[in-house]
Amino acid sequence: MTKTAWISVDMEGISGIVDREQLLPAGRLYEASCALMMDDLDAVLAGLAERSEIGRIVVNDSHDGMLNLPWSRFGRDVDLISGGTKPGSMNAGVEAADFAIYLGYHAMAGTPNAVMDHTYSGEIREVMINHRMVGETGLNAAWAGAHGVPVILVSGDQAVAQEATELLGGVETVVVKEARSRRSARLLPPPEAHEALKSKTAQAVERYLSGAVEPFAFLAPLHLEIDLMTTDMADRVMFCPYMERLGGTRVGQTFDSMDQLFRGFYTAMALAAGRPLY
Ligand SMILES: [Zn+2]
Repeated sequence: MTKTAWISVDMEGISGIVDREQLLPAGRLYEASCALMMDDLDAVLAGLAERSEIGRIVVNDSHDGMLNLPWSRFGRDVDLISGGTKPGSMNAGVEAADFAIYLGYHAMAGTPNAVMDHTYSGEIREVMINHRMVGETGLNAAWAGAHGVPVILVSGDQAVAQEATELLGGVETVVVKEARSRRSARLLPPPEAHEALKSKTAQAVERYLSGAVEPFAFLAPLHLEIDLMTTDMADRVMFCPYMERLGGTRVGQTFDSMDQLFRGFYTAMALAAGRPLY
């Protein structure tokens, strides 16, 4: 029986990316960045192709509007989940996979020397689940883990690699750049970055197949706590009937399942992102 691989591709941790100018469709370097995303993905796909145990591969475009990856460059046996506002967001489709890969990820909000550190949106200062601080890697790994799916590889800068190792233990990491600040990094040359992605992917699959990688999960009940940038944002989150005010900028709630927690988190983020009321 072959295994289904699932890859969530964000953009901030892709080889060669350091600044906002590269990350949004209006940016001067955005088109070139989409090609860089595909180059990193091709390297991971080459690593997966070395293993006959891998059957279908599903790729979830996980950055911004989630319309970044050029579908016309996709080959056989690789499906693309394209577009935003989808159940699970960055996690869409992982529940049907055997293992997950996080490509081009970035460190959680507030991390020093981390390229474009943030947690889902610019309104969020901190996220805690059961009193443990998590970024996108932790939130998403907990969602995957709730469906029994382990994360086998995370790529990005040195900061997200450290974050992933501290949280996920057995995960393989690929450092494609050393951040010097939020908007600068020393970049690995493309051939070296792509070779590392390819070889580490093959190693991560090997480790997964040997049974050495466990799904990451929090035990229910799941307490979510979010610290927002301003009190105004917290005021808006309070329009959600099940959210509680935990402090000036802090909101939260306890949930029975990771699916419910993630929907609560997403709702809070969406409400916080609205314009000020006056
Ligand atoms: Zn992103």
